[in-house]
Amino acid sequence: MAAVDEQPFSPGTYDVVVVGSGPGGLQTSYCLARLGVDHAVLSRDDVPGGMFQRFPLFQRLITWTKPDAPADRKTREYEWYDHNSLVADEPELRALVPPEMNREYDLPSREEMLRGLAAFAKRARINVRYGCTWEATRREREEIVLQTSDGEYRCRAAVFAIGITEPWIAPVPGLDRATHYVDVKDVGAYENRRVFIVGKRNSGFEVAQALLPWARQIILASPSPVQTKTLALSPLRVRYLHPYDEYARGGPGTYVLDAAIDRVERGADGYRVVVAGTTWEGELTFEVDDVIAATGFQAPLQDLPDLGVATVSDGRVPALTPFWESLTVPGIFFAGNATQGARGLGKRGLGASSSAVNGFRYNACVLASHLAERLGKPVSRPRLAGSELVPYLLHELSHAPELWIQKGYLARVLAFAGGIYDQGIAPVTHFLDGTVPDALAATIEVDEGGTIFPILYLRRSGEVHEHPLPPHPLHVYENESYRQEVEAILR
Ligand SMILES: Cc1cc2nc3c(=O)[nH]c(=O)nc-3n(C[C@H](O)[C@H](O)[C@H](O)COP(=O)(O)OP(=O)(O)OC[C@H]3O[C@@H](n4cnc5c(N)ncnc54)[C@H](O)[C@@H]3O)c2cc1C
Repeated sequence: MAAVDEQPFSPGTYDVVVVGSGPGGLQTSYCLARLGVDHAVLSRDDVPGGMFQRFPLFQRLITWTKPDAPADRKTREYEWYDHNSLVADEPELRALVPPEMNREYDLPSREEMLRGLAAFAKRARINVRYGCTWEATRREREEIVLQTSDGEYRCRAAVFAIGITEPWIAPVPGLDRATHYVDVKDVGAYENRRVFIVGKRNSGFEVAQALLPWARQIILASPSPVQTKTLALSPLRVRYLHPYDEYARGGPGTYVLDAAIDRVERGADGYRVVVAGTTWEGELTFEVDDVIAATGFQAPLQDLPDLGVATVSDGRVPALTPFWESLTVPGIFFAGNATQGARGLGKRGLGASSSAVNGFRYNACVLASHLAERLGKPVSRPRLAGSELVPYLLHELSHAPELWIQKGYLARVLAFAGGIYDQGIAPVTHFLDGTVPDALAATIEVDEGGTIFPILYLRRSGEVHEHPLPPHPLHVYENESYRQEVEAILR
């Protein structure tokens, strides 16, 4: 029999089936295993790491890892300084990306990231059935049935950690003839060429930055203006903003335009692109050698929309509950980059980071606890003594990486029900909609001006009150004045 199937997870019935072996799938499997949840992991890849086997195309991430930091690498607090490693309870499984870095940069290269993920999969003994493609889906009463290249898998909950890297081309006449970002291979091929890039978000600026030393002329265009205030808070600014800098200074040969693309026409020697200004009057026509569509990506949802899975963003991303379950089809969950389909409160400035490893690694841990409870596995909810409450809250607000990275999205939640019980980390929106009559959620938020401050949400007899605390220039909240303020609020 072993010769018949040497791979783990033969087709059959499991409580949970996870699809994907990128960082989202690996983190989810690790957390489910810690909680003793029976699950299978399937992936059409041959090795762990998902998208990082191919992207970012120009080889360096936009998310930081600081190999040396004020916190020790083996601590939970260090996660705030390392936005790329997967997270674990065991010190020996923590911070596996920094040892792979050669320190040329505080942003790991794609290869370094991939090695860090592979080390995590190996040391945490995450089993994956590789080379197994999920092909179709159906529901049979309470079960989700996944049809795969290796046979049928039945489960009570399916977690799709399938990423958002399938090319999506905006519906512009003729743009389907352009090269999509994912197919841009060799920057040298653009030497002395005029290149029109459709899209002014991460992938558009990434390509433009890489082509600066090669192309003769680069035009980036999309209808919405570059949001300089948002960019100032985005990881993009670290890596890819030279094209914008050149344009903002009036530098020749690089243009960053606010324009709707009317059409792309193929000519004898290249392309003609006709655009209409959105923040300026008029039309322009560009004769260029190449057009690159950097208009984004979509999740490879296959037949899930036919099953009733609702989507947002032009069908590219699933619409999700606070616990990352399809809003419309119970039992279908998402992990990894696709967790951005649960937007959270989104009420203030810079928010959650669910589309990057630093954010979705925590979403995966919260999802695993949620699934464990749904499947009847008890999750520990330790009791706190009254005297521990305020120091614990101030410590979490100052150091918890979940709160610092998933700002205004994840919170430390405590319930008051015949004692003080630590409910763990939970989505803020779930807390606000929740039913526990007396409880508290502590998180970090950012206002429109970029000021970071701690905040407590207190639910008393079902009614929620919001208590923002003053900001601190060093974000240090473990001191007497915060202690007094929190005590006053709790009193
Ligand atoms: C160009 C680009 C650059 C990025 N840069 C960064 C960055 O610097 N830092 C950062 O944190 N994030 C970055 N991201 C976001 C990035 O997508 C995520 O961080 C991460 O790779 C997503 O992990 P994931 O597990 O959700 O999906 P992926 O890594 O995409 O993995 C998806 C997995 O699902 C599997 N799969 C898909 N469909 C099937 C199927 N039908 N059957 C079986 N298996 C299937 C795939 O084989 C793969 O194993 C970037 C994204 C893009 C597009």
